[in-house]
Amino acid sequence: MIASYLGTVFGSASAPAFARSHGRTLRPALALAALALLAGCASAPKTVPLDTSITAQGQNSRVRYIMLHYTAGDTARSLKVLSQGQVSSHYLITDDRAPKAYRLVDETRNAWHAGDGSWYGQSWLNTSSIGIEIVNMGPIGTQWQPYSDAQVSLLIRLIREIAARHDVKPQHIIGHSDASPQRKTDPGPAFPWQKLAQVGIGRWYDINTVAQFSASLAQTGLPDVLWFQRELARVGYAVPQHGQLDRATINVLAAFQMHYRPARYDGQPDIETAAILSALE
Ligand SMILES: [Zn+2]
Repeated sequence: MIASYLGTVFGSASAPAFARSHGRTLRPALALAALALLAGCASAPKTVPLDTSITAQGQNSRVRYIMLHYTAGDTARSLKVLSQGQVSSHYLITDDRAPKAYRLVDETRNAWHAGDGSWYGQSWLNTSSIGIEIVNMGPIGTQWQPYSDAQVSLLIRLIREIAARHDVKPQHIIGHSDASPQRKTDPGPAFPWQKLAQVGIGRWYDINTVAQFSASLAQTGLPDVLWFQRELARVGYAVPQHGQLDRATINVLAAFQMHYRPARYDGQPDIETAAILSALE
């Protein structure tokens, strides 16, 4: 910093030329300006000198989760809300014919997308996740709007890069509704989780294992509500553990079904849901 100011003020090229054309001495005003610059520079806080020649092996990324959302608004409105308001996301995927991916927040910083929620008991997910918003209207009436193939393929590339950068586990790639089942439904039952799983993104189950569990459950009967609550907690969800099928439990079951069995997400315990839960690791 000081060296560059000296170079500017007393630099070998400009200062002598200036001195020659102005009587071989620096004019008092210029000398004063130079002193003022030096004084200002000297009082600026200096950063601590750091030796960065040794890097610790014991470290990992602060990012542990990738959370997906729909915007429930068009691209223009979503960009405005996510860049100028109190909510934001690291990325936004548009719904253009050739979708574009905006990066609105650097991955080293918190975006404000997750809000109140938890996954595997971890809350404050804004501090440990990357948020991706996808332009999609969600439900219009009772009709969930589809995600375009072009959006999904761009999303797959983006998630793959983020997951590799931060070593994100498959079961940590989740929807907003997985972490906040009591108040959120995005990315919704139209989101193609299975398609992502087929290319190695996110957690899924083996269909043969599910078929075996379904067959044996058909013999033994449906497990009780406490069993569902324990299994939902085991696979990451925040859910009551009191054995009652209350509204909170129904909401969690519905969130689970939207993600893993979107053909029916009524929040009711059933054999297929039990078999999928059993098959999930
Ligand atoms: Zn959301």
